[in-house]
Amino acid sequence: MDPKDIRHIFVVGAGTMGSGIAQVAATAGYQVTLMDIAADQLERAKAVIDKSTAKLLSKGRLTEEQRAAALAIRTTQSLDDAADADFVIEAATENPDIKLDIFRRLDEVTRPEVILASNTSSIPITRIAAATQRPEQVIGMHFFNPVPLMSLVEVVRGLVTSAPTTRTVIALAEALGKVPVEVNDSPGFVSNRVLMPMINEAIFALQEGVASVQAIDTVMKLGMNHPMGPLYLADLIGLDVVLFILEVLHRDLGEDKYRPAALLRKLVDAGHLGRKVGLGFYDYRENPKGVARDF
Ligand code: NAD
Repeated sequence: MDPKDIRHIFVVGAGTMGSGIAQVAATAGYQVTLMDIAADQLERAKAVIDKSTAKLLSKGRLTEEQRAAALAIRTTQSLDDAADADFVIEAATENPDIKLDIFRRLDEVTRPEVILASNTSSIPITRIAAATQRPEQVIGMHFFNPVPLMSLVEVVRGLVTSAPTTRTVIALAEALGKVPVEVNDSPGFVSNRVLMPMINEAIFALQEGVASVQAIDTVMKLGMNHPMGPLYLADLIGLDVVLFILEVLHRDLGEDKYRPAALLRKLVDAGHLGRKVGLGFYDYRENPKGVARDF
């Protein structure tokens, strides 16, 4: 499909990523429908979009019209409403059974020329594509959190994703104000394949007593000019998510260098999942910025 023919974007999943993608698409001028099976998630998404666009408006980064467009996003609990969509971006729960089922159904309800993109972080695009009769029109669009602020989109080509599909998705990502980077389908793509071993190595250094949480993060911040240290970033991502992605890299690439550190597993077992629960490598319960813990 020609990128100019895309008017109506259908977003599946109204969680952290889906709500951000819907917001960005609406403020870029697309008609957007946001779908989720859970009504409370749709309500939560509307509240998040309201707050986010109000903040961006007050900073002069959005116009009144763009905010109004974001507040006019249609919501639905039915995938059947994708029937008149020109493009679909799926950002539902990271579970292969759920995603394969969604893609099978999208393949049935959408027009045959429509491209189906997935925001998956760890499920092979090639496998998702094979659940449809249009694998050459299935592609990865890997956005970063928070979507309205992060400019990168990894455009992930599955084994049989066609060149025209890739070109359309690159043009669409640019129209959304993002910087697309093309990568081939491989575990962790580029982002997580490079980031996760760095975080894991920081945890190994901590568990071996090489340095404290504060020291490791300060070295990476001041020495490498990273905006935040790897342990702080791990807390932000969620330690359960970090462990899950490392397990995928370890299993699918089959190399010991991706073996998750025992301390990471221990923290996840304890329910210390990072910022979202108030406790990870840092303690956020009294100080929202976090205080480094002793290990
Ligand atoms: P989330 O848990 O915040 O949201 C997932 C949403 O999917 C929920 O609202 C849930 O109700 C909905 N859902 C579940 N089954 C559904 C179905 N059958 N149909 C429609 N909706 C359904 O998750 P998230 O963090 O937004 O992640 C979504 C996707 O984005 C995942 O594939 C994840 O790997 C990927 N991703 C996440 C991040 C991140 O930082 N959170 C970054 C990049 C990519």
